[in-house]
Amino acid sequence: MLNSMNPQQREAVKYLDGPLLVLAGAGSGKTRVITQKIAYLVEKCGYSPKEIAAITFTNKAAREMQERVGHLLQGNHSKGLTIATFHSLGLQMLRQEAELLGYKPQFSILDSSDSFKILSDILATTDKQLLRKTQWQISSWKNAFVNPDQAAATADEEIAHAAAKVYQIYQQTLKAYQAVDFDDLIKLPVELFEQHPEALRRWQHKLKYLLIDEYQDTNACQYRLVKMLTGIEGRFTAVGDDDQAIYGWRGADVENLRQLTQDFSRLKVIKLEQNYRSTVRILRAANQVIANNPKLFEKKLWSELGTGDLIQVSAAKDEDHEAESVVMKLLAHKFEHRTKFLDYAILYRGNHQARIFEQQLRQQKIPYTISGGQSFFDKAEIKDLVSYLRLIANEDDDPAFIRAATTPKKGIGNTTLERLGEYASQKKMSLFEAAFEGDFQREIGNRQLEDLLTFCQFINRMQERAEKDPAGEVLNDMLTAINYEAFLYDTEEPRSAENKWKSVMDFVAWLTRKGDEDEKNLLALTQMISLMSMLEGREDAEPDAVKLSTLHASKGLEYGHVFLIGCEEGILPHRESVDDGKIEEERRLMYVGITRAQKSLNISWCRRRKRAGEHESCEPSRFIAELPADDVRHSGQPQSDPVANKENARQRLAQIRAMLGSSPKTDN
Ligand code: ATP
Ligand code: MG
Repeated sequence: MLNSMNPQQREAVKYLDGPLLVLAGAGSGKTRVITQKIAYLVEKCGYSPKEIAAITFTNKAAREMQERVGHLLQGNHSKGLTIATFHSLGLQMLRQEAELLGYKPQFSILDSSDSFKILSDILATTDKQLLRKTQWQISSWKNAFVNPDQAAATADEEIAHAAAKVYQIYQQTLKAYQAVDFDDLIKLPVELFEQHPEALRRWQHKLKYLLIDEYQDTNACQYRLVKMLTGIEGRFTAVGDDDQAIYGWRGADVENLRQLTQDFSRLKVIKLEQNYRSTVRILRAANQVIANNPKLFEKKLWSELGTGDLIQVSAAKDEDHEAESVVMKLLAHKFEHRTKFLDYAILYRGNHQARIFEQQLRQQKIPYTISGGQSFFDKAEIKDLVSYLRLIANEDDDPAFIRAATTPKKGIGNTTLERLGEYASQKKMSLFEAAFEGDFQREIGNRQLEDLLTFCQFINRMQERAEKDPAGEVLNDMLTAINYEAFLYDTEEPRSAENKWKSVMDFVAWLTRKGDEDEKNLLALTQMISLMSMLEGREDAEPDAVKLSTLHASKGLEYGHVFLIGCEEGILPHRESVDDGKIEEERRLMYVGITRAQKSLNISWCRRRKRAGEHESCEPSRFIAELPADDVRHSGQPQSDPVANKENARQRLAQIRAMLGSSPKTDN
C-alpha cells in the first residue's frame, strides 16, 4: 500500500507519536497522504473506521475522498468512517447534542438570504449595503468565537456597539426559530464542549484520530474545535499550504498554521517537496509568482514530469474575443491531442465571468459543468419546496413558515400574517404555534382563519408521514397536494415554468435516491439539503465535460489543461483587494490557479472590457509580468512590451509595499 509513496509521504502516513503537520506546496500529495493514512490506520493500526474523522473543505472533496478510501479499503471496511466538512461534522455533533444547548434535534439551518431577511427586520431597513456589512460583521465575530456580550464589551465606537446589539437580537431570534446559521454549525459545538465537558469526552472518545485537509483555510473557531477534539495528545494530522490560503476574506487565518507550532510543542512538521502534478515550466511559473509574497514558511517544490509546453499568454481584443478564442483553442487542442473534454478547465476570479464562456461553449455544442456558481439549491423553485420541508422538520422555523404559507398562494394574506406575527412576537412563540391560540384566532375573520388552519393541519399531516414514509414519496404527494406544477404555469412564462418543473423533478429524483441510499428520512435529509445549499451546487451530471470554475472552487483539484481567463488588473488582482492592500491573497489565488494545471496552461486577458455598458481599456495583470520570461510565449501582440510591464509591476509592488510598510524583497 505504501509503495506508491515517497519517503516523506510514507513517514507522514506512518507517524502516530503525536500531532503532525504536513506543510507543502501544491500537488505534492498532501491530500493523498490523508487518504492513505486513513487506510493505514484501519488496516495496519487496528483503528475502527468509526473512530476516524477526515475533514475536507467542500462536500465534493469529501465525496471524492470517500470514494478513494473506499477503493483502498475495498468494500465494507470504510463503513462508519466520517469524511466531512467542518460544517457537516458540526451538524452531526449538534444534531446529537442539540438538547444540551436548548435546541431540538430537527433545528433548521438558515441560509444567508434568510439571515439577511432577519437582519432587515431587526434593523427595520432595506439598505442592502448596511445589511451586508452587518451580516459580515456578525459572521466575523462568530468565526472569531466572539459572543454578543464580548462584542459589546470590546466595541469602542458607537457603530460597533449598535452592531453588537443587533448581533444579540439576531441570536435571540434564531433561538426562537429553533434555527442556526452557517457559522453556528461550528461555533455552537465549541460552545457546547466548553459548557459540557462530558459531551466533549463523548466525542473525544468517539473520534480517536482527526485528519484535516486544506488546513491553511481554517478559521479561529474551527481551530478551537480541532484543539478540543484532539485533546492534549493532539491525535491529528493536518495538511496545508500557506501559499494557498485564499479564504482570509471569510475569516480564515493562516496564522493558525503558526499557532499550531506554538500550541503543540510536540508538533512534528513534515515537508513534501516533489510535485506529482505539473510540468517543470508550470511549476516554475507558480513558484516564481508566489516568490513575490513574503514567506511564512520556507518550501521547495520540484517536478520530474518534464519541461513541458510553454505557458501561453494571449491578449484578446475584448471579452467576446477572449471567449471565442479560448474555446477555439480548446477545440483545436482537443482535436490534436485526442484528449477528453474533462481534461480542460476554464478558471476565473468571479462568477460573472462565466456567462460569456457558457454562451460560447453552448454555441459550439461543447458539454460543460459549472461549479462555484449559483447553486441548484438556490433556485427559487427548490427553495419553495425546501421551505415546506424545513417547516415539516421544525414548525418553529418562521422564515420557512412565511415562504411556505404564501407560495403557492393559499388565501393567507399579508394582513393575516402581520397579525399573526405581532401576536407571536408578543407571546414569544412561533408563527405556527400562535396560529392555534384562541386569542389570536378571535382577532381575524373566519375565512382567513380557516385557510390558515388548513395550511397548518396540512403541515401536521406531513410531519406524521415524514417520520415513517420514504422521503421521495412524501415530497411527491406534497407537490400534488399544493398543486405546485399548476402554480408554476400560472405564474411563469411556459418555457420558464417547464424548466422550473424539470428542476423540481430532478430534486424529487435526487431526494428519492438519497433517501434510499443513506436510509435517511425526510427530516435528516432536510438538514443535509440546507447545508448543501450553502456550499455548492448539484453533482455534475455530465461526466465528460469542460469544467468552468471560480479559482476559489478549484482548490485541491487538478486538470490536464487549464485556461486562466480575465487576467487583468482590477479582476485578478481584484479591484477591491488592490484598494484594501490585500494583494497577497490575490497572488495566492493566482498561484492556486496556475498549480491546477498538469500539462498546459493558457493565460488570457482583454485589452478592453464592457463595464456598465461602456468599453473600458484594461491592463494585463501584474501577475503576468511576474511569470518567468523564458517559460512564456505571448500572443495577440502584447500591447506594450513585457519588460516594461514588468518594470511597471515592480513599481506598483514597491508602492504597495511602501503603503503596507514592509521592506521590498529582491526579485529572483
Ligand atoms: P493541492 O495543494 O493542490 O491540494 P496536494 O498536495 O493535495 O495538492 P494531491 O492532490 O494529493 O496533492 O496530489 C497531486 C497529484 O499527484 C495527484 O494526482 C496524486 O495522485 C499524485 N501523487 C501524489 N503523490 C504521488 C506519488 N508518490 N506517486 C505518484 N503520484 C502521486
Ligand atoms: Mg490537496
